[in-house]
Amino acid sequence: MDLLIRNATAIMTGGSGAAARATGPDIRLRGTRIAAIGALTPEPGERVLDATDCVVYPGWINTHHHLFQSLMKGIPAGIDLQLAPWLSAVPVAYRRFVDEETLRIAATIGIAELLLSGCTTIADHHYAYWPGMGFDGSALLFDIADRFGVRFVLMRGGATKVREIDLNPPPEARPETLDGMLASVEADVGRFHQCGGDAMRKVILAPTTPTWSVHAHELPEFAAAARKMGIGLHSHLSESLDYVHFCRDVHGCTPLEFVQRHDWVGPDVFFAHLCHMQPDEIRLMAETGTGMAHCPQSNCRLGSGIAPAPALARLGGRVSLGVDGAASNEAADMINESHMAWLVHRARDGAASVTVEDVIHWGTAGGANVLGLSDTGTLAPGMAADLMVYSLDHVRYAGLHDSAIGPVAGGGQAHVKYGFCNGRLIVEDGRIPGLDLPSLFAEARKAVGRMLA
Ligand SMILES: [Zn+2]
Repeated sequence: MDLLIRNATAIMTGGSGAAARATGPDIRLRGTRIAAIGALTPEPGERVLDATDCVVYPGWINTHHHLFQSLMKGIPAGIDLQLAPWLSAVPVAYRRFVDEETLRIAATIGIAELLLSGCTTIADHHYAYWPGMGFDGSALLFDIADRFGVRFVLMRGGATKVREIDLNPPPEARPETLDGMLASVEADVGRFHQCGGDAMRKVILAPTTPTWSVHAHELPEFAAAARKMGIGLHSHLSESLDYVHFCRDVHGCTPLEFVQRHDWVGPDVFFAHLCHMQPDEIRLMAETGTGMAHCPQSNCRLGSGIAPAPALARLGGRVSLGVDGAASNEAADMINESHMAWLVHRARDGAASVTVEDVIHWGTAGGANVLGLSDTGTLAPGMAADLMVYSLDHVRYAGLHDSAIGPVAGGGQAHVKYGFCNGRLIVEDGRIPGLDLPSLFAEARKAVGRMLA
């Protein structure tokens, strides 16, 4: 599609420092790419979209999610629990409901919410795999993402051992064998993984936790297998103090030292959360290029702590943003996540600790960086046309002096006037073309009803 987006009030590029804002007011798209940004005049045959009173951001890149949890929001038994008891009360207890139908409904809900917040790339840490599961969860997720037109990274989770919190697992939580899991990941890489900075589909190897989901001696085998397949590594780490105490008591080291000993640091590795890190761990992250998926809303909701994302970024480390699963984040959208990322560090470290430009950078260019998607996350000529045109037509934006910061500083439900991924229009005037929202609500109510019965 040849397109000219005209007369935007402001353009945030996803870059940092002086490069964070582009002098517009126009953006030209050619096919799947951005052709030009500046003061542009329409060319013959070009469709013109009006962006008056709008701001343009890169499509957000969500680097940590569990889409299957989108039917597990606000479960009363876990609403006021810390991470460990919450895991038992919610994701573990409700795992038996994850069948083909609920996964389809849950993923549709989660992806729709992300799209309407302006997200164009989703990395889903999906760990609902078990021996003899009888349906193809990986294909199902890629298929739904395809229909929405978003970039999708399957971070293929799973466990090879039973956790203490789940000693009598239902069939849906039974562990896989190391060989079985690696063979399955290799098959998914063969079926879905694309190389290149503009991939629409990627696979990452992501055992659910390095501490409790797999045996320590298997970690180097996972790392070696991922590197042989040419894919990245991901997991949860140091989400709560339990990780720190476990590593200290069982392995006599910090969590970062533990994963380093098992070949799990480097530019092809990133971890979700990392709320609890000592200064030498933050330095190790930066020095090795190991990335962070910062999930402040989930961390606040579960009382887990505040990850030292600004400190890591100041050392040149790699920070991205993730919403985490909807079972621990009832607003799984990237505008709210960035709003929380902007606020929470300032509450603790002062008003100069994080800027709106910083959190946009983390949530766009930073996400592209940890996922190895070099052609998205930044608005510049030659980059993929993954971008969001936000209309500032809500009364909350009336009186705003700096329009560019509106969506992040204001938080809440943003209004996407036009949303593009890889040059394709995927959101228009706050709606997703082809999505039957009333039917989705009805399916969700029915699925929740089955869980309550
Ligand atoms: Zn998670």
